[in-house]
Amino acid sequence: MTDERTPRDRRTAGRDFEVDLDDVLDEDGDEEDGLFDNLLSGEPIFENKEVLRPSYTPDELPHRTDQINNMATILVAALRGETPSNILIYGKTGTGKTASAKFVSQELQKTSQRYDVPSEVQYINCEVTDTQYRVLAQLANTFIEQNRDWIDRRTRELEELHEQAREDPSALLDTEFDDPPDLRERIDALEADRAEMDDVPMTGWPTDRVYNEFFDAVDYVERVAVIMLDEIDKLVEKSGDDTLYNLSRMNSELSNSRVSIIGISNDLKFTDFLDPRVKSSLGEEEIVFPPYDANQLRDILQHRSKVSFKPDVLSEDVIPLCAAFAAREHGDARRALDLLRTAGELAERDQEETVTEAHVRRAQDKIELDRVVEVVRTLPTQSKLVLYAIMVLEKNGVHNINTGEVYNIYKRLCEELDTDVLTQRRVTDLISELDMLGIVNAVVVSKGRYGRTKEISLSVPIEETEAVLRADSRIGDIDDITPFVQARFEN
Ligand code: ADP
Ligand code: MG
Repeated sequence: MTDERTPRDRRTAGRDFEVDLDDVLDEDGDEEDGLFDNLLSGEPIFENKEVLRPSYTPDELPHRTDQINNMATILVAALRGETPSNILIYGKTGTGKTASAKFVSQELQKTSQRYDVPSEVQYINCEVTDTQYRVLAQLANTFIEQNRDWIDRRTRELEELHEQAREDPSALLDTEFDDPPDLRERIDALEADRAEMDDVPMTGWPTDRVYNEFFDAVDYVERVAVIMLDEIDKLVEKSGDDTLYNLSRMNSELSNSRVSIIGISNDLKFTDFLDPRVKSSLGEEEIVFPPYDANQLRDILQHRSKVSFKPDVLSEDVIPLCAAFAAREHGDARRALDLLRTAGELAERDQEETVTEAHVRRAQDKIELDRVVEVVRTLPTQSKLVLYAIMVLEKNGVHNINTGEVYNIYKRLCEELDTDVLTQRRVTDLISELDMLGIVNAVVVSKGRYGRTKEISLSVPIEETEAVLRADSRIGDIDDITPFVQARFEN
């Protein structure tokens, strides 16, 4: 294959992070164009890269109008001071659940300021806040903070009123206060409340105390509180459904306020693990976010690219290709945006003026590799050992690897590390899991009268896999691996 890259490509390839000091300093050690001058000199590709990041909430969400209207129709009850039904939102990752829910809550809060009973949304990401204690403490502290602000505003108003009333008693005519001392009493009571409002510590209390604190904080003023629990499946998986049980039965005991819950889940089946009472309460309304198809992803990218890129830097096929790749990845808009951003960054690094199809393909490889590295890095130790055994065999030129061969190497690795040895049956299961994660490829082949066997091969790049596995301190301690493979032939 001929090298079709431009000379500048070749010059910069592979040394993205290297600095040649001669480029920066001339013979007298004076500064020439510096490292950053060079990088800045090219025409910039991005107008605003932040717009392509997952944390950015777009103000327009094409192809989610139905879901957004649906949510709004349910939540409008909050603006009337009624309790909205609880909502359960389902959909695979990258289908716009978080973005849509945040969009709707921003709108709700904007409008709510004009109404008597305030309605507000508290957002919690349960992947980060993943125990009942932490969820309740975080909620309690947010409400406590709001109550303090509310008291501050209220006492300021009442102090003013008090001032007026001392000069002109008729100032109290249309109020709930009989006379200035009555008003003073109320102000003192508020200040006493405020002095008692301490934050809940993030660890250390009994959970029911945290719950009581949260309960009192919510109920301190009249309000409709929408509690949005994103990645709710992670919370249930890690800590069970106690939190949801407690939250879903609060309303019968609250006197001033009402809560409603929006649960967002990537896992369509997570309600199977819920207590039936929680399940029916939480799932009063269900909204499904289907995967995007390639055309819809194209629209989404088109919208976002207008703000994020300089005009005319994307060649024609860039957005369709990003959309096509991401459509294959279960219609994941996050992946589509990652691809577009990464392709732009690669073009920028090459100091090119346009982003091309080739950048998108490189971006796809890079993201895929990053994913593999992350999956391998977070495997449990036993799976890492199984994968390491497969890698060692491949590295030593063994093809059509079968389960028995993997098992033999695996056993020796376990002996070397002085760790428990699983049964061959368990190891076969682990190989199937690796297959499902897309890290190895295991196909069943028929051996005629000798029955059937699995043929296993790595489906990820061998060097990177080895590097990630050896970064695990225990596996990194294994010395020479070749004798294991030779030993395999002796078995
Ligand atoms: P989920 O919560 O379903 O995993 P997100 O809401 O986080 O997905 O969406 C992933 C990314 O895709 C975010 O950057 C989001 O802004 C973007 N996105 C998703 N749907 C749309 C859409 N319809 N229009 C514009 N951007 C979208
Ligand atoms: Mg999300």
